[in-house]
Amino acid sequence: MSTKNIKDTLRENQISVKKRFGQNFLLDKNILSKIIDVSNIDEETLVVEIGPGLGSLTEGLIKKAKHVLAYEIDHQLIPVLQKAFKGENLTLIHDDILKRNIDQDIEALNLNYQAVVVVANLPYYITTPILMKCLEESKLIQKMVVMMQYEVAKRITALTETKDYNALSVGIQYRAKTKLAFKVPRSVFMPPPNVDSAVVTLDFYEEPPVAIDSENVFFQLVKSAFKQRRKTILNNLSVEYQIDKERLIKHLETCDIFPQRRAETLSLLEFATLANYFYKLDDVKK
Ligand code: SAM
Repeated sequence: MSTKNIKDTLRENQISVKKRFGQNFLLDKNILSKIIDVSNIDEETLVVEIGPGLGSLTEGLIKKAKHVLAYEIDHQLIPVLQKAFKGENLTLIHDDILKRNIDQDIEALNLNYQAVVVVANLPYYITTPILMKCLEESKLIQKMVVMMQYEVAKRITALTETKDYNALSVGIQYRAKTKLAFKVPRSVFMPPPNVDSAVVTLDFYEEPPVAIDSENVFFQLVKSAFKQRRKTILNNLSVEYQIDKERLIKHLETCDIFPQRRAETLSLLEFATLANYFYKLDDVKK
């Protein structure tokens, strides 16, 4: 859709752009087709789209995919989408994505498919909750190709020893192989957001890349280690777990982790090793 098309559609249907729903409509045809290319979808793919908006991305998705299941929260956009895609391979659900059980919705379609892929230009105010929902709750989603704020994209795909590597990077990289596919300037949206964007791919692991005895202990440890980035893991963990430093130094050294390191230098494997060690200890609260 061109700027004019979007503006006309909004005016004809007396729809206002709603900031509270993170509405930034994508205008650029090249970016739309690049997203679809990166997603590698075909007639055997079931696509889940979050926030179809006025349908710019949806239009390309329904052409390539077996079926598109789309969630849209804004009631004003529902009739526009229903009219534009009448009779097409699209199931539209008018609801808040965060309230849905995505796997149940997919199963209710009763379709045969080879892969389930989420493709979306995400509402930025809930980027992390959407990612965590898909990663933690769904057993059916295999891949996500999603547009998000560039800053979040850098964090999600950050490697150890970089300034963007944080608890979110570790948590997400435990569940999916992530890649920043390409950066997108703010000028290709209507209205333009205040930040640049990027498209990220997340290929979900069938088995996590590291073995973890307790996910609760692992996630608690990661969060605690990053509590104050500039502090050493010794300082962060001794405060968070209320362990005496002498004892903690022994625990860290047993896991071959130098206590004066900062969390951003620990690899996924080191976090996993330490979490599994903590899991077995009686003097570490869980
Ligand atoms: N896909 C369209 C595009 O690329 O032009 C619109 C993308 S816009 C960034 C985000 C869309 O998500 C909007 O249509 C907005 O109404 C919708 N949305 C916001 N919050 C939502 C939620 N909790 N559940 C479902 N859709 C939501």
